[in-house]
Amino acid sequence: MVARFKRAGKTAGAMLRAALDLALPRLCAACREPVDGQGLCPQCWSKLSFISRPYCERLGIPFVYDPGPGILSMEAIADPPAYNRARAAVRFDEISRALVHALKYGDRLDLAPMMGGWLANAGRELLVGADALVPVPLHWRRRWARRFNQSAVLAAAVSAATGVAVAAGALKRVKATAQQVGLSRSERAANVQGAFRVPPEGKAAVVGRRLILVDDVLTSGATVEGCARALLRAGAANVDVLIFARVADPVRTSI
Ligand SMILES: [Zn+2]
Repeated sequence: MVARFKRAGKTAGAMLRAALDLALPRLCAACREPVDGQGLCPQCWSKLSFISRPYCERLGIPFVYDPGPGILSMEAIADPPAYNRARAAVRFDEISRALVHALKYGDRLDLAPMMGGWLANAGRELLVGADALVPVPLHWRRRWARRFNQSAVLAAAVSAATGVAVAAGALKRVKATAQQVGLSRSERAANVQGAFRVPPEGKAAVVGRRLILVDDVLTSGATVEGCARALLRAGAANVDVLIFARVADPVRTSI
């Protein structure tokens, strides 16, 4: 991160912030109450909604009742994704959104090890036998504005927790896509059409490899779908998806 701060001419500011960080108690990422150690206070922690089985083995969407082992959702059968399996750590709600925003816009990189630990736990089955983690890339212009890619930060944290390498240059966002917020499902799919590509220098990390895409939030799944297609087209052996927080509609039916 230091190099990026330098590039943005904010080295002194970053150092000052780091110094203050040591001197002041940390604040809860959601309600801003002081907390010890972890990024959430006990009240906000208790409101988090971790995703666990039963869920669709393909999409990772929680079922409202347990249909038995290995059952897929209607969505997975009717409209199978390009990727193999998706898993998410928590439901996207008020608390997880606060965590994602704190990491993304609030320079709360101290949250990354905790969030990465939850990701590693949610993706345990995917991580066994995975060759590398591939963060969903930002377009260079957005990364420059934000100074870092939050998906790369999360992938690095998962890597630190599990030892699975990060293939940072495996995928590029070649089209500056509009923000997905407010778009319909089909608009989101069209928005990311052709947005991702495996660059020539990224091929070696992709061909014949078992990869896990890492992203912070999954809404319609259009972004990871676009990424998975690009990786598979370039010759990846398998693509799974690991998400920090997913929008999970609990009323979806199973068969
Ligand atoms: Zn709190």
